[in-house]
Amino acid sequence: MEKRVDHVVTRPGRRDGDPDVQIPVAEDLTTVPGIPLRETDLSFYSRTYPQETQNIEKAADRQWVWTVYSPEMSEYRKAHNDISEPLIDAAAVSGDLEPTGTPTGKDATEAIRRKARELGFGEVGFTKYDRRYTYTSKRHWTKYEHAICLALEQNYVQTQSLPGMDAERAHFGTYEIEGALLLDLADHIRELGYHAQVHSPNDNSAPYIPMFVAAGLGQLGANGQLLSPHFGSRARLAIITTDAPVTYDQPVDYGIHQFCQVCQVCVNRCPGRALVKEKVWWRGVEKNKLIYERCRPVMARYDGCAVCMKTCPIQRFGMPAVMEHYVTTGQVLGKGTHLLEGYTFMEKGYFGPGELPLFDRSFFEIPHGRNEEWLFQQFKEKLVKEGIPSQEELVGFARDVKKIIDKGNSTLGDE
Ligand code: SF4
Ligand code: SF4
Repeated sequence: MEKRVDHVVTRPGRRDGDPDVQIPVAEDLTTVPGIPLRETDLSFYSRTYPQETQNIEKAADRQWVWTVYSPEMSEYRKAHNDISEPLIDAAAVSGDLEPTGTPTGKDATEAIRRKARELGFGEVGFTKYDRRYTYTSKRHWTKYEHAICLALEQNYVQTQSLPGMDAERAHFGTYEIEGALLLDLADHIRELGYHAQVHSPNDNSAPYIPMFVAAGLGQLGANGQLLSPHFGSRARLAIITTDAPVTYDQPVDYGIHQFCQVCQVCVNRCPGRALVKEKVWWRGVEKNKLIYERCRPVMARYDGCAVCMKTCPIQRFGMPAVMEHYVTTGQVLGKGTHLLEGYTFMEKGYFGPGELPLFDRSFFEIPHGRNEEWLFQQFKEKLVKEGIPSQEELVGFARDVKKIIDKGNSTLGDE
């Protein structure tokens, strides 16, 4: 049944030089620009319960994944880390570099946007760097107040083959390309006469999606990913902050906040049952909250999984086609078809619409929390089960804790 259109969003084309696209948003999908937000709650939580990067907060399982990776994945990830290391190091000190050009004082938004598009970023937007999201470990690192949000598209064909190594090469390979492009763009901003700090996609200073939403580059999907107009969640996100004079973009209502409640494909197709149908208020934002502990074991053992990315119609067909189809028919493009919903889950075989792989309870038992927290948890369980340990075991435990303290926390990782 045809739907009434509430408004039409106009966005730049997918690639630099492509014509603008129009996205019709049906009346029954209209909610708010960006995401429903309670500013006072967001501020309260960021002050009272500041966030820390998962690379620290969830270090125990992030270390554990290396024990279950396939040999091919393990080898590939090590090679990826070697390539990324110099890019991450360069990003870490980028904010300290002085400008090389003379500033004109004029608005630099379009000059930066043009250069970013030339470099190949598919989505570029400007907003305030919202410090309420900054990870505790990065609070003294972030320098400049304006955020340039940059999304680099991941290869379409490779992504449709996931889960598997080919898709993982697209995933991590995009980060490698992006790491270098960000440094180029930061150089350009310095040539314009301003500072530029690269917030690496492999060493995040904050969750970036809220700032992308504020900059109008998409809305948060039920799969926990940014759904951007052309490639949905098939993109890798990074930020550059700057003191260049820029004009902020505004959040947009693409209809996604409500569309996900109608669609639900990722929720129904998630092998880990980690996605949740109902939205909840979480730290001042209304969203579908992913259950990390049900996702992680699947991602680690099944080459990154990401079925929630593959089965998303916005990723597969692009937002203009999906929203036009909804307006014309009232249906979700591709929903219920093998083309969109089918996937081969490695040794478990093919799963079509309505079919999911099964895992037993022990599959989801993984280490939790920070490394030291996990060690204490294990120690506590041993105490309960076996009573007071020997002197030798106590000393061994103390040594292990000391080792973790001496090593310190690393903020590095891939989102
Ligand atoms: S990565 Fe896989 S397990 Fe995790 S939320 Fe997506 S579909 Fe579910
Ligand atoms: S699959 Fe559907 S419900 Fe999930 S994020 Fe994409 S549009 Fe939203």
